[in-house]
Amino acid sequence: MNFQQLELISPILRAVTEEGYNTPTPIQQQAIPYILQHKDVLGCAQTGTGKTAAFAIPILQLLSQKANNGKGIRSLILTPTRELALQIDENFKAYGRYLGLKHTAIFGGVPQGRQVTAIKNGLDILIATPGRLQDLMQQGYIDLSQIEIFVLDEADRMLDMGFVREVKKIVSRIPVKRQTLFFSATMPDEIRSLANTILRSPVEVKVTPVSSTAKRINQSVCFVEKSDKTKLLVTILSDRTITRSLVFTRTKHGADKLVKQLANTGIYAAAIHGNKSQNARQRALADFKSSRIRVLVATDIAARGIDIDDLPHVVNYELPEVPETYVHRIGRTGRAGAEGVAVSFCDAEERSDLKSIQKLIGFTVPELKVQTAPTIRRNSRMI
Ligand code: AMP
Repeated sequence: MNFQQLELISPILRAVTEEGYNTPTPIQQQAIPYILQHKDVLGCAQTGTGKTAAFAIPILQLLSQKANNGKGIRSLILTPTRELALQIDENFKAYGRYLGLKHTAIFGGVPQGRQVTAIKNGLDILIATPGRLQDLMQQGYIDLSQIEIFVLDEADRMLDMGFVREVKKIVSRIPVKRQTLFFSATMPDEIRSLANTILRSPVEVKVTPVSSTAKRINQSVCFVEKSDKTKLLVTILSDRTITRSLVFTRTKHGADKLVKQLANTGIYAAAIHGNKSQNARQRALADFKSSRIRVLVATDIAARGIDIDDLPHVVNYELPEVPETYVHRIGRTGRAGAEGVAVSFCDAEERSDLKSIQKLIGFTVPELKVQTAPTIRRNSRMI
């Protein structure tokens, strides 16, 4: 199947071709025709499957077919994190570049001035995190009474982050007569009952369940003493064929510490986590995307939804306690048909975490034996 067969309008087809997409991904093939028919959709798909385009493309098409007539915001996309909000906005910008529809992303952690100006200038599509959206609604800047299409993105993460009450409140302000698209990587009972209260006779679409890790990702585990983890990482990163590596730590403090330790060996890395300012996070992500830095150290929440087309390598410097998180983490690599490598470090205390992960993914992750070299200290007198 190609994009023409999805009956997309030519300005969108042109933009999608310019993005370098040839074939719609399975979630796009399944969801786009229903969305164009104004149906509600319950989508089970995780980041990396092309789900953003699966809703952004048909929303752009539907909205472009009807003039706004100064009616205000017609589509709301609610997403849990600022990074996701920005990435979704970038997607709308890319696919909608020949349409002239107005969109913006609003999120907390930055001054509201520019966001308020964008809203006052008129918008067709608003991408928002729950906190800032509620804040600006309370201040009277946002009116949701003209919403025609509502998207709830990463519903399971909303639940994990404790946003369900906010989500329900926001939904109560959107007209009942609307089209709703609901996406979640997992569908536990709680999510399903939330979906039941928000959707009307939805069509269910589903791709790669969370418990099945993509086959194109080459996974391995290194058994290592806790105190030797940095040395192991330095050895692994000495392979210059690894052009970019995303390294996960459990804590913000751990991420900062690792960045410092890597710098001492001459490896420049940046950390992204919740304590960093929005600007610092954006800068780190931009430096990583443009290959100014090779290594990005991230905590789970900050890394959620990081959208980098060419990410060949993921390291679990520490294993996550929640096994599903492992699947989310390694899902950052091996996207859109590319090959990926995911290496996990496992110390004695983490053996039980590894066991739970292996139970979830249904196989034993093969062991990788790495001979660690002595750590090379950077010598400032060296030219
Ligand atoms: P998402 O699941 O929305 O985070 O998208 C994952 C990645 O796949 C993003 O980098 C998109 O730019 C890319 N992508 C989305 N749709 C396609 C497609 N049809 N062909 C190739 N890449 C795609």
